Amino acid sequence: MNPLEELRELIAQAKEHLRYYGELGLTHIGETSAPVAPEPKVEGRAAVASASTTYAAPEPIRPEPPEPTIIPPPQFTPKPTIIMPTKQENSDVVSLFGEPSLFGEAAPFGEAAPFGEAAPSFTESLHADETLEDIRRDLGECRRCKLASTRTNIVFGEGNSKAELMFVGEGPGADEDATGRPFVGRAGQLLTKMIEAIDLKREDVYIANVVKSRPPGNRAPEADEVKECIPFLFRQIAAIRPKLIVALGNPAMQALLSTKIGITKMRGQLQDYPRVSGIKVLPTFHPAYLLRSPDKKREAWEDLKKVRAFLRGEL
Ligand code: URA
Repeated sequence: MNPLEELRELIAQAKEHLRYYGELGLTHIGETSAPVAPEPKVEGRAAVASASTTYAAPEPIRPEPPEPTIIPPPQFTPKPTIIMPTKQENSDVVSLFGEPSLFGEAAPFGEAAPFGEAAPSFTESLHADETLEDIRRDLGECRRCKLASTRTNIVFGEGNSKAELMFVGEGPGADEDATGRPFVGRAGQLLTKMIEAIDLKREDVYIANVVKSRPPGNRAPEADEVKECIPFLFRQIAAIRPKLIVALGNPAMQALLSTKIGITKMRGQLQDYPRVSGIKVLPTFHPAYLLRSPDKKREAWEDLKKVRAFLRGEL
């Protein structure tokens, strides 16, 4: 590439970064003269605009130049503790959100959990050391629930099988159903920008959903559907063993953490993933919700900065 082409390429990359920040609701990130001041309490769009200040806080109020993606080398981690089951997998599943329990005791947050008691990891223990390919093979042309009759493609999940960071959404929408890939529609495009805004690429992370077949009309997945599907997600998590799972929205958070508490209360709070030791979960808003409620992007951005800090070992 000649110097002029290189310069053009650099300018194009810088523009692309600015576009992501704009999409996330961050404006004025180029300002250098803003004083470091306590965050003003502002609402709505103004709050979104002020996220620019937060972006560089606490110290420099100047633009963070797009940095090269630095993925720390994998560290040795002791084999995680996988909690053994106390009951037959899923046998207690009654319903998903708010009704009697799925997996047993241990609602980690003091309220009765949608998955019930202890979150035993029967599934993971049974399938220790399997690969994503093994899990995909086992899933097959799944007809375990009624979603099979209306879906076009199974959306298994995609990304880095050794990812340190995993994103979990609710279930495929129309675009995902058509392509067999997670998060490729409008919400997916925003998710990609969110990933890139924390200096990662989509290929660095792993993206999956609570259910792998599209619920018709984009309705929320029902309890019986989740019951059949979620063991596969748990196995994917056990196979990948990410450091951190970002739970996108209520259904993903409630399924992963066995809680009934809502996302608004839980977002931004780092939690232990109850099924495999050494994995954390960070709940945040679903990108589809952010598209509908752009004033929430500021909070999502706070959560994303936490993700970045956690992966850098700063938390
Ligand atoms: N919403 C989700 O929760 N998952 C997808 O894959 C796409 C949209």
